[in-house]
Amino acid sequence: MVPIQMVDLKRQYLKIKSEVDKAIHETLDATAFINGKAVGDFALELGEYLQSEHVIPCANGTDALQIAMMALELQPGDEVITPSFTYIATTEVMALLRLKPVFVDVDPITFCLNPEEVRKAITPRTKAIVPVHLYGQAADMQSVMAIAKEFGLYVIEDNAQAIGATIDMGSEGIRKTGTIGHIGCTSFFPSKNLGCFGDGGALMTNDGELARKIKMIANHGQSKRYYHDVVGCNSRLDTIQAAILRIKLRYLDEYNQSRRMAAANYNKSFEGIKSLTTPKTALGNIHVFHQYTMILEQVDRDGLVEYLASEGVPSMIYYPVPAHRQKMFSFLNLPDVDLPVTDWLTERVVSLPIHTELDQDQQELIIESVKSFVQQ
Ligand SMILES: *Cc1c(COP(=O)(O)O)cnc(C)c1O
Repeated sequence: MVPIQMVDLKRQYLKIKSEVDKAIHETLDATAFINGKAVGDFALELGEYLQSEHVIPCANGTDALQIAMMALELQPGDEVITPSFTYIATTEVMALLRLKPVFVDVDPITFCLNPEEVRKAITPRTKAIVPVHLYGQAADMQSVMAIAKEFGLYVIEDNAQAIGATIDMGSEGIRKTGTIGHIGCTSFFPSKNLGCFGDGGALMTNDGELARKIKMIANHGQSKRYYHDVVGCNSRLDTIQAAILRIKLRYLDEYNQSRRMAAANYNKSFEGIKSLTTPKTALGNIHVFHQYTMILEQVDRDGLVEYLASEGVPSMIYYPVPAHRQKMFSFLNLPDVDLPVTDWLTERVVSLPIHTELDQDQQELIIESVKSFVQQ
């Protein structure tokens, strides 16, 4: 059996090697390493795929979030409502811009922002909401958008883990995540559902004026060569990465489908085991399973992780420390932040390998190993 990994990028690459190698060599021959043709082509193709009017590529997902907050002109001291149960990048950029992250609790079923908690956290200083489509499933965007509209707030979607996922937006129809808020942000980090061979990211918006501002900020605040209107940054997607992403985008639906099938197989195999709560997909959502994350009850999690490792099965805790408990945020003095669901999940979640190359026999070993530990 091929050794099991959390993500098997090597085998995924080998399947499209000839196409990818050709695209890389064409880029090398053209030597337009920065802002080459593939960058614009990829932005258009991704826009078409997502049904987003504007896609602005940038250097990584963290930059995308920062640029989004700069483009919306959020000011130091402005409050931004966000989950604590997420990867640190979502909230780190808020600290960098001296915004105040206001951490709210998540829904224990979807792992995403709980709209009731968002509403309770709104103050006169609140300017934006940043929902995270964690593990590959959309947050409750119908409620988030309704609250944002009611209170005049911006919505920035952190779509780094959910590219290709959809949500039923009621009267607005079925929409891809990352295209619903004022700005959507995503990452092309290699292990993401649409990953390149280095760092990459993008912003999505349907607002032409915002798109213009985002482009300017990502390029040193430049409106015209050597004329800098606002403080910006240097955040670009390399041409080589764009050329690779153009190819991988054509496989994205297939990749997401194989993740979904692996997840369905896990769900079925763990059915009826009381100590394992398998991930649920909310009605109307298409989940793209960036992670397959279960909640353990009355299971020694460290023991499980150790046992799985001894059987050749990797597993991970996403994430062992929620944002509001990170030292990074000690400057916020958050003693009264009480996020019971976040803390409860943090102690109980475990993620199993899920990727596009998971074989039947690999999955069987993973399933049997989990079962023999929790049912012993
Ligand atoms: C990966 C990730 C990011 C950051 O993307 P990078 O490209 O690594 O900077 C942001 N938010 C979430 C939820 C992520 O998973």
